Amino acid sequence: MSQSPWTAHHIQQCEQRIGQTMLRDEHSLVSFSRDFGGLAHSKPAAVFSPPTTLALQQLIAYADENCLPVTVRAKGLSQSGQSLPVAGGLTLHMDRFDAVHEQEDGLIWVDANASWSALLAATLRESRVPYITPYNVNLSIAGLISVGGVGAASFKHGIAASHVTALEVVTADGKIQRVDAASSLFHACLGGQGQFGVITKAAIQLRPFGRQVRTFSLAYTDREQWLKDLAVFKRHADFIEAFCSPSLQGTKLTAKGRRPFAEWLFSLQVSFEYDDKAPELADFGSDVKPWRVSHRQDEAMDSYLFRHEARLQAMKASGQWELQHPWYECLVAQDVVMSELDDLLRSLPLHFATMVHLVPISGKQPTGFFMGPGQAEFFSVMILNPGVPPALVPGCLEVIWEMDERFLAKGGKRYLSGFLGSDLPLDYWAAHFGPDYTNWSKLKRRYDPKGIFCSTLCNHNMTEGRSAS
Ligand SMILES: Cc1cc2nc3c(=O)[nH]c(=O)nc-3n(C[C@H](O)[C@H](O)[C@H](O)COP(=O)(O)OP(=O)(O)OC[C@H]3O[C@@H](n4cnc5c(N)ncnc54)[C@H](O)[C@@H]3O)c2cc1C
Repeated sequence: MSQSPWTAHHIQQCEQRIGQTMLRDEHSLVSFSRDFGGLAHSKPAAVFSPPTTLALQQLIAYADENCLPVTVRAKGLSQSGQSLPVAGGLTLHMDRFDAVHEQEDGLIWVDANASWSALLAATLRESRVPYITPYNVNLSIAGLISVGGVGAASFKHGIAASHVTALEVVTADGKIQRVDAASSLFHACLGGQGQFGVITKAAIQLRPFGRQVRTFSLAYTDREQWLKDLAVFKRHADFIEAFCSPSLQGTKLTAKGRRPFAEWLFSLQVSFEYDDKAPELADFGSDVKPWRVSHRQDEAMDSYLFRHEARLQAMKASGQWELQHPWYECLVAQDVVMSELDDLLRSLPLHFATMVHLVPISGKQPTGFFMGPGQAEFFSVMILNPGVPPALVPGCLEVIWEMDERFLAKGGKRYLSGFLGSDLPLDYWAAHFGPDYTNWSKLKRRYDPKGIFCSTLCNHNMTEGRSAS
């Protein structure tokens, strides 16, 4: 069903009905018209920040009655318009849903917009942590599980969305429900990009942990040895970060002019929890042979889980946070990554690929609408540059399309946070969801029949492009 834009009359009538005001001043609207990526822009007709669940329900019921588009926004850290409204749409800013609730029986209830750091502040006191903590602990709970949720323990525990026990959700009719794995609404909301309802609370599973963490930073010049050691550590470690970093070797002439080129170094940061006795590298056998042990770090778990904070703060202090971020994340089968890696590294311009992260992920527990390449183990190939100036953006986008060509044809699936493009072709979503596309369309019609939940990324093209039974 097609939606109408929010008019001044709608906004006024809705404000009167729910007894709350919306933001409509130019400054506020402009500040909500971009996301972290800075590549997609769309100004909302109004922004509503519900103070209570009742006000949220009333707003949604009004929007549904009048077929008015609503975009759910958490912290706006996605990069392709996932949290930006369609023309004439309203932004539902969930910032006031930030409480951390009770812990019981190995789980904790948290409001949708609480950050992972707020969750950790409560659970670390009780000697518990979530199975997956993202690198950036400032992301919201609901924003992360609405895309999946990747972290350094993903090689072992998969994605954050796989460790949710229950959700509280407001659906398009304004009703609120608590749902668990027995409900199709629960599955639809995990990886659901805010398209099936508004998550107000989530129950996140917790586990006990060793008090201390020892991290070995290992460097390799030999790609094969790096991969062999990665396989060993996947059997023993608690957290792994794997990445390739370029070492500049000067410039050379290419078809696009003179360009810098690099040799690539391969790195692992492998971390082990312990209480009394810290592991030594020798414990993992003589086959583990890094070129260099660059560093060994011992720290408490609360320090380890916040390890990326300094880097994120530096991005803010240096102005990089405000730049555009053409980020790329693609979930790719292990054998495809291995066969493509050398060629990929040779082809990447260094202003775009300051590092290439390869996050190993266990795909043993398929979850909601998070789409992987359908294998038990795969990688997220990620290029997360600190920010690029406008003149370099078109070149970066060209590389993104080349990488899509390289990986999507071989079963890769984009992680739905990075930049996917504007005006995606009608058949994009059918290809992305594959056999699950029919179910996506069916559940969308069931839980949001008028299609009020939408964004510049997920709009009417998403289900109408291909008719689904
Ligand atoms: C610096 C940085 C570091 C990152 N690190 C990681 C990482 O370690 N691991 C990882 O997996 N990802 C990471 N990401 C990507 C991030 O997980 C996604 O972009 C995430 O969706 C952003 O969360 P947000 O809270 O800003 O949500 P938003 O960008 O505001 O929203 C994202 C999506 O979730 C939906 N949504 C938000 N709240 C709700 C709700 N209450 N109910 C229903 N739908 C909702 C929105 O509609 C939208 O579709 C990182 C991003 C940045 C910028």
